[in-house]
Amino acid sequence: MLNIALFGPPGAGKGTQSEFLLEQYNLFYISTGDLLRKEMSEKSKLGLEAQSTIASGGLVSDEVIVQIIEKTITENPDSNGFLFDGFPRTYIQAYILEGLMIKLNTSLNCLISLEVDEEVSVSRLLNRGKTSGRTDDNELVIRNRLKEYKDKTLPVLKFYKDRGIFFEVKGDQPIEEVNRDIQKVIKEELNKSLYNIVLFGYPGSGRGSQGLALAKKYELEYVSTGQMLDYEIKTKSKIGKRIFDLYENGELVPDEIVVQLIEKKIENSKGVKGFIFKGFPRTLVQSYILDGLLKKHGSSISRVIEIEVPTLELINRLDARSKTDRCMPYDTSISKIVKRLQEHEKKTVPVIEKYMQMHGLTKVDGVGCFEEVFQRLSDEIVKDIK
Ligand code: AMP
Repeated sequence: MLNIALFGPPGAGKGTQSEFLLEQYNLFYISTGDLLRKEMSEKSKLGLEAQSTIASGGLVSDEVIVQIIEKTITENPDSNGFLFDGFPRTYIQAYILEGLMIKLNTSLNCLISLEVDEEVSVSRLLNRGKTSGRTDDNELVIRNRLKEYKDKTLPVLKFYKDRGIFFEVKGDQPIEEVNRDIQKVIKEELNKSLYNIVLFGYPGSGRGSQGLALAKKYELEYVSTGQMLDYEIKTKSKIGKRIFDLYENGELVPDEIVVQLIEKKIENSKGVKGFIFKGFPRTLVQSYILDGLLKKHGSSISRVIEIEVPTLELINRLDARSKTDRCMPYDTSISKIVKRLQEHEKKTVPVIEKYMQMHGLTKVDGVGCFEEVFQRLSDEIVKDIK
């Protein structure tokens, strides 16, 4: 998700720049001013409550703002990201935004402030007032809106400066140049954020080979818990012996072991573009751990993909694999294979359901040759990183 807040005094050009950005980044637009005007035109309870404040150029209460903004965000959890215009306007609203972003397991990427002189704002708004039909575009109210901006809204900048996501753009340049400067900020921010995929699928669905190939193509770090555990087995470490016994019984490895390995992997992967997690998380507990680990690194899950393959085909594939040198300790007999598939059903399917609600789930048909499935997966990823 890409979440941006456009900041600046009334008349800075936030509305105009928003139109460009919505098209350029396919975001969902949230202008608290527009939402309030809609509530007023519908004569709703919130609209009536806000009316006199807006007419005088004051700021509407944070209680009213939280209601309209929460409703809009939670109704659109699947959007590519949000563009906020005119929000947050108070320190409290900055906290509200942070809380709402956490609820969606995402964060604000940047707050871009359009810098213009007060007199430029006034003359632009007076000019807009000739055609906008907005009763608050008259000099007396404009002066009050600017005073509110200085008194209550400007202090919000500190909140974002402290978090290192505040950027200034000169707002008195020609429109195209302002847009160019904003895009530059966004591009730099996008380059900084990690792209993380969680790849689900039953054992035998091709998650491993596809995950590896995707990681190579898109320069992501491939994180396979199975591979890390196998390494422990092969090197006959102390944990390796324990893992081997668990595998023999078709059971899952305890979370403490897996978490230690994953944490080490993330911490050692400095400067990567993102991660592909395969075979993790496998339990609800692990799903909370992954969310927490990524949050700790200022990141979150970007996309969840499940490769779908019918059960009979899975059994055939695993049985065929057991007769090759890629045989795993857990697929040496049909009964072990079935046990493992059942274990997946019991423990991992609830995780997929949780992730589906939190991040949306992309199902990809895993039947067909390697290249066909790889193409289907690539088509999904390209949508995010184009
Ligand atoms: P705008 O269209 O953003 O200029 O907003 C018009 C008016 O709506 C402002 O002068 C405020 O009275 C009210 N308003 C819009 N957004 C907010 C907000 N986030 N907090 C408080 N009041 C707001």
